[in-house]
Order: sequence, then C-alpha cells, then structure tokens
Amino acid sequence: MKGRLAVFNTLTGEKEPFTTLRKGKVTMFACGPTVQDYMHLGHARTYVFYDVVARYLKHLGNEVNFVINITDVDERITQEAEGKGEDPLGYAALYSRRFIEDMASIGADSVCRFEPVSGHVDRMIELVGRLVEKGYAYSVDGWVYFDVSKFPAFGRLSHQSRGELSLRPLELSLRKRGLLDFALWRPETLVEGRWDSPWGRGSPGWHIQDVAVTFELLGEQYDLHGGAYELIYPHHEAEIAEAEALTGKAPFVRHWVHTRLLNMGGRKMSKSVGNVMTVRDAMKRYTQGQLRFFLLGHHYRRDMDLRGLGSAARRFSRLRQAALKAARESPVSGGGRDAGLMDRFRDAMDDDFDTPLALEAIEDGLTSLAGRKGSRAAGILSSVKAAGYILGVDFFA
Ligand SMILES: [Zn+2]
Repeated sequence: MKGRLAVFNTLTGEKEPFTTLRKGKVTMFACGPTVQDYMHLGHARTYVFYDVVARYLKHLGNEVNFVINITDVDERITQEAEGKGEDPLGYAALYSRRFIEDMASIGADSVCRFEPVSGHVDRMIELVGRLVEKGYAYSVDGWVYFDVSKFPAFGRLSHQSRGELSLRPLELSLRKRGLLDFALWRPETLVEGRWDSPWGRGSPGWHIQDVAVTFELLGEQYDLHGGAYELIYPHHEAEIAEAEALTGKAPFVRHWVHTRLLNMGGRKMSKSVGNVMTVRDAMKRYTQGQLRFFLLGHHYRRDMDLRGLGSAARRFSRLRQAALKAARESPVSGGGRDAGLMDRFRDAMDDDFDTPLALEAIEDGLTSLAGRKGSRAAGILSSVKAAGYILGVDFFA
C-alpha cells in the first residue's frame, strides 16, 4: 500500500509513510494482557486505539490481519491463583474469557485472533535452541540467556547508547555474563515446571512468547507492532534482538507504534498504585460511544487523564442528540456524502492517526446541521455515519 498515511515510528523517531510488506495486506500485532485481573481503562485506551488503526487501514482498502496475544504463562498468574487456592491454568482461562468479553464491550472488534501463548511453547523451545546453536544465547543452571553483546543493534528502538543501557541492567543475577542479558528460558521456581526442555523443566521468558506467536501467525517480518510505550524497553527491544538474530532479516517490524498513558489524578493508572477503574465498572456508568469518544479525544502519543471522562461523556451525548434529531428531519437517503467533512476526517487520520482532529471534523459537521435540512444535511449525516464507523463511535445508536 502506498498512500498518504504517515505514522510515527518509535524506531526512527519520525513520521514515515505507511508501507506494508505485501500490497493491500497489513499484518499487525499488539501486546495483550497477562491474564490475572480485569482489564482497566488504561488498557482500554491502548486497545481502542489499535482497533481504530485496524479499522482505518481497512477503510483504506487493506486486508488486515490483527493478532493480540494472551500471556497465560507467567509467574504472576501462578502467584495470584495459588494465593486464592485456584489452579493457575483454570485461572488464566477464566481471565482470558473476561478479557475477550471486555474487548467486545469496548467495541474492539477488529481483532482477528486472540492467541494464548501457552499453545506455542514447543515453538519457543525450538527458537531458544536455535539461538543457542547460533551463538546468541547460552545456558547456565537451567536458565538460558540472550547474550546481548552479540547483538550490536540492542538499544536502537529505545534510543539508548551502551552507556545509558549500562545504567539500566536487566534481571539482576550472578549467573549472567552481561548485565543486559535477559532470560529466554527459566527453571520454574514457584510451581513445578510445566514444560520439558533441553535445559530441564521450566517455562519460557516473556519476550520470546511474542516472537513465537508472531512468527507462527504473521511471519518472520511484519508491518506494525503496537503496545503501551512502557513496553519499549526491555520488552520490544528484546523481541527485535531475538527475531533478527534468528532470521538475519531486518527490520523485524516496519512500524513500531506506542501509546502513552492514561493517568488518574496525575498518576499512571495501575494496579500497584491502586487507582484503577476497570472496564466493567466504567461500562456500568457510561456507554461504549461515550467511552470511545473520550479515549479517542486525545492523541495516542500524549498522556491523558481520566478526569475528563465525565465532560466528554456529556459532550458525546449532546452530539448524539443532535445527530438523532437531524436524522429524523433529513433521513439519510443513500445519496452523496459531504466531501469537505470526509476530506478533513481523512487528513486528520492520515496525519499519524490524529483522532482528536478527526472527531472535531465530525463535531463541526453535526454543529453545522442546526436549522439545515434536505440533501446537504443528509450528506453531512451520511459522512458522520461513515467517519464514526471508522472510529467505532456510533452517533446514531
Ligand atoms: Zn508483548
């Protein structure tokens, strides 16, 4: 695909024309949750955004294969489940189902596949074995580590020099050869290891999970990788090292796209801070349209604060009333659209998915309807409907 769409790439630090490996086909992936708890609005911000990315890429005529993984293999899940006297696998399965339900309730329905990583452990063992064979990894006491000194491009995604990286050592352990080396395989310490490997019973490291899933479902290279920006280092940096060391092909991913935070009272919404609003709680008080209107009312590369939710919800309701009233007076006849509105909408979206400006175009269209009837009004309404569909914000529901 070659169009006008420009997307900010974390890897280069620049807005670049959006291109794909295969014409008309987009392969995209976003890091999914570790399923140990309910989804909160911070996660919802991320997933609603990538849902809109997928919807817009489809609107531009692409076939979009969008995969989200589900981390159902993790010590935190085991701890949480055992603390409650439950079986970790059953616990993870329950929260996976809840995650998929919550994704449906926020309208993130462009995801083609939610993929539990536990089904790919054999592939992970094979990949780790190949990294050892190729000299990029070493095993010690049941652990396997990636040898970062063998991969000079480490730090490129997070724009850190070797000196800066040395101040942020990973996974402190005396077993490691280098401070930045990270685990590819670990002997299970909390529970009996679930998988046999050439290095003994254990479980895969976190970063290799995404690589195994995407190699399988999207190929060894693909178009767009998303996730919250705090995953850039070390998680995504490590994915690049693993994948490019395995294949010798760069770039592993063409476009690295990261969302910023949703804060609550100036602090990041997170379970550890204790300032979390779950999607389920939010959906008791707000509609899907209100929530998406609020979340998309801020550019994805800027932090936002939950304090604006109430007023955004009221603004959405007023716009919806205006849309419904106008639709009664000037039924959409299937006729033409309002070219000006659609151009403004597309210009905004083409500029690194500027959803606040895209919503402003819709809002101005609806405001301009006051006192107007007939085909011009019907054209505006038809455009509002089309643009709203791409954002997953239905002004007529
Ligand atoms: Zn991930």
